[in-house]
This record gives sequence, structure tokens and C-alpha cells, in this order.
Amino acid sequence: MTYDVIVVGSGFSAIAVTCNLVELLPATAKIAVVGDDAGFGRGTAYRTELYLHRLNVPAGRMSLLPHRPDDFADWLKAHGRPMQAGDFASRSDYGLYVRDTLARLLRKRDGRCRVDFIKAKAAGCVESYTNTLAFHLGNGDEVAGKNVVLCLGVGNADLPVEPTGVPSSLRSRIVENPWRLSWLRRVAPSDAVCILGSGLTMIDQVLALRARGHRGRIDVLSRRGLAPLSHARTPPAPLPIDVHTLPATISGLLKILREKSREVADWRSVMDGLRPATQALWQRLSHEERARFLRHALPWWNIHRHRVAPDVFAGFERLVLDGTVRFHAGFLKSLEAEDGRLVAGYRVRAKREIDEIRADWLVNCTGMERAGISHSPLLKEMSRFQLIVPDPLGLGIQVDAASEVTAPSRISPARLFAVGALTAGQFWEITAVPDIRVQAKAVAEVIVKTRPASDT
Ligand SMILES: Cc1cc2nc3c(=O)[nH]c(=O)nc-3n(C[C@H](O)[C@H](O)[C@H](O)COP(=O)(O)OP(=O)(O)OC[C@H]3O[C@@H](n4cnc5c(N)ncnc54)[C@H](O)[C@@H]3O)c2cc1C
Repeated sequence: MTYDVIVVGSGFSAIAVTCNLVELLPATAKIAVVGDDAGFGRGTAYRTELYLHRLNVPAGRMSLLPHRPDDFADWLKAHGRPMQAGDFASRSDYGLYVRDTLARLLRKRDGRCRVDFIKAKAAGCVESYTNTLAFHLGNGDEVAGKNVVLCLGVGNADLPVEPTGVPSSLRSRIVENPWRLSWLRRVAPSDAVCILGSGLTMIDQVLALRARGHRGRIDVLSRRGLAPLSHARTPPAPLPIDVHTLPATISGLLKILREKSREVADWRSVMDGLRPATQALWQRLSHEERARFLRHALPWWNIHRHRVAPDVFAGFERLVLDGTVRFHAGFLKSLEAEDGRLVAGYRVRAKREIDEIRADWLVNCTGMERAGISHSPLLKEMSRFQLIVPDPLGLGIQVDAASEVTAPSRISPARLFAVGALTAGQFWEITAVPDIRVQAKAVAEVIVKTRPASDT
């Protein structure tokens, strides 16, 4: 069967695109959602079962549908978890909300289009002579579509260095994908844990370890040793910022942001004022300035922009203050074994010396920063056949302002879009719900608007 739209992925982006398509497409249309995750809608972020894993965006800004801003807050109320718009709900609840939203739409809409959920991994893609893009699935089947939306998330980055001389008994203590939470059950209370990366994923893992009774030392290694900052308990009003008055260089921007931060009572109002303008700001930067931002300003941007809920921050800060969590700034150079433990050798930031962290476990939380397309066999395959082109900074794939994949060698008239973090080269801030939901709606609208009359 040929589908009007194939949505590849099973996380938030895939479900957001599907919800918008279901709202807009006529009853004659057919959609396939191809995802390799049993929990359609949960993806990496919202499949956690731990209540302590909270959203890092207030509930009032987490509606799946931009045109119904109170949808998530209403869902929480209806499910006996009333919250203020500024509160931070659990990520597990959010996963349930995403699935429920799609289920409600599928139940409610009279004469809605057909949606097939196919649980399989998309392994390869070819341009077909029937003017479609056809995906080979891991289960041996094939699906073809006239429009395709790639919603694959970012995956997990590879370890920054290859372990050398690490026996298999210890190799199993190197956790390459921390989101398979089963590793937590194998950690003894007094084990020493070394975490690579100091972002939001690191905080999640630290708190999950504590909740499971871990009381040992946790060493955190990252390039600069910076951890995310906290949301304010009472958020300050965002400072209105006109993007056209801002310079298009990173040094100029930093200067202005510092000045503005000094003028306001809380620097968060500057970051929050910048938020709606971030994509436009990124698009004004030259390739060189974007590269400069990634080289020099990224860790600072991340900790100020992607903040944690105040309670989560307080719990984490206690562990830093009592010495349970220790930060190290430097570059991982080697990963070896000695006396039955893992030894991470790193060059200390701004120094020549090499220091070591000895631990029973090493957990890779370096995340999206280095993921690019290399984490995905499908994307690597599509790139090999020139169906997609990596963006010049290696953040994801090249798309235009309408999120349509631009690959000059493609010949098929079938249309290929991408939604979510894969489009960071074009939009930069496109990893969180408030940004993705707008993109998902826009892509669905383009697909519906450009559908040939003969298909209706
Ligand atoms: C731990 C964590 C916490 C977060 N917390 C928040 C938050 O509080 N608020 C917020 O706004 N954002 C948060 N985010 C950002 C989050 O990335 C987005 O909100 C959103 O979940 C991204 O969804 P996605 O569908 O684009 O990607 P993902 O959730 O990564 O989903 C991609 C899906 O595609 C599937 N897939 C990949 N390749 C294939 C293939 N070849 N074939 C079939 N299926 C495939 C994967 O299995 C996966 O299920 C968080 C992210 C993480 C990692």
C-alpha cells in the first residue's frame, strides 16, 4: 500500500506531526507511523517511570498543540494531578499525556483518516519509480509514501574515546546509553560512578542513582565542568528583545546579553526574552559565527537556557555541597582498566597535565552535542544514497525554512521533511516541546496544503 504520509519515529515529534495530520487530512488519506519503540509517544525523554524525572519546562508551556495552549494543564487536572501553569510535572505523566492526546483524536474524529502504527525499525530508504520513498523495515516489510517526515530524535552520542584493554567483565560497566535505565539496578550502593557530560541527562542519572539507594561517590567530567542552572521559583517577566537590533556576531551578542543581564533583577528574564527570537537570531549568523558559538559559547548557552525545576536543582545541589558529586573540567583522553576498575584519563582544562578518575562504572551522558547523524544507521544509509545531506556543522541534516530536506541529488517528487533535533542546523533551538510543536504543525500544514487535488 502507498501511504500519503509516512512518519518515521515514535517519540514526541512523531506523535505531534501525526496529531496535526489527523486533524487536517480528509478521511480518504492514509498515514503510517513507523517506530521501533513499544511506547509510541514516549520516546527517549518521556519513557522514564521515575516520578523524580521531571519536565524542565513548566506545565503551562507543554501543550502538544500550539493552538490549544492549556491542553496539558487541563489533562493534568482531569487526571487528578492539578498543577499551576508554572509547576513542573513528571516526564512519565507527560508521556501518558502525549499518547492519550493522539488516542483521543483517533477516537473522536468522525470520518478521520486511516492511521497504521507499525512497530519496526526503518533500516533503509530508496527512491521508488512510483514517485514514492520506500522504507525497508527491520521486520522484512516495506512501506512507501508520497510524503515522509523523519522524527528520529538525536540518539545517543558514541563514547568520545574507545576503551583500550578493558576486559568484558568491566566493559559491561560502561553504560553507553543511560536511557536504558536497567543499568541502575546493577549498581551497588558503594560503587564509584564516573559520568561523562554535565548536562540535564547527568542530573537525571545522579538523582535516579540516589533514589535507588546509591551512596557512593559520583565524579562528573565535562569540557568545562558546568552544570545546568535552576528555573526561578517565581519566573521573572521575559525582557522584550528585538532580534533586529542585535549584532550578528557571537562576541557582540555576548556583550549585549551581559549588559542586559546587569540591567535586570534576574538574568533569566533576558534568556526568556531571547527565547522566541532564538531561531531568527541563529539564521542571521554566518556559518563561521555559528561554528564559533558551538566552539566557545555552547556550554554557557546550555546551562542558562536549558534549566532545571527548582526542586530538582535543590536536590542535586545538596549532593554537590556534601561532596557526593564532584566536578572535573577536562577532555577525556583514555579509558582503560586497572585493578578491576575503570580508569578515565583526562587532560585538565587549560593545563597540560593528565589526571585520572577511577570508578566502578562509567556512564556516557554526552548526549546530543556530538550525535549528528552518525548514531542512526538509517540516516547513514540515506546519506550514502544522497537522499539527505548532513548540515555543514554536523548537527543533523540539511533542511530549508519549511523543514523540507534539501538534497540536490534527489530525483523523486516524493517530499521528505524532518522534525525535531535533526533540524538543528537550520533552527538551532529545536529540541524542546515549545519549539517542536510549532514545527510539527507547520510541516503538517505544508503537507496538507500541497496535496494534489487528485488525492482528495
Ligand atoms: C532526558 C530528556 C528529558 C527531556 N525533557 C524535556 C522537557 O522537560 N521538556 C521539553 O520540552 N523537552 C525535553 N526534552 C527534549 C526532548 O528531546 C523533546 O521534548 C522530545 O521528546 C523530542 O522528541 P523526538 O520525537 O524528536 O525524539 P525522541 O524522543 O528521541 O524520539 C525519537 C524516536 O524515534 C525512534 N527511532 C529512531 N530511529 C528510528 C528508525 N530508524 N526507525 C524507527 N524508529 C526510530 C526512536 O526509537 C525514538 O523512539 C528532553 C530530552 C531528554 C533526552
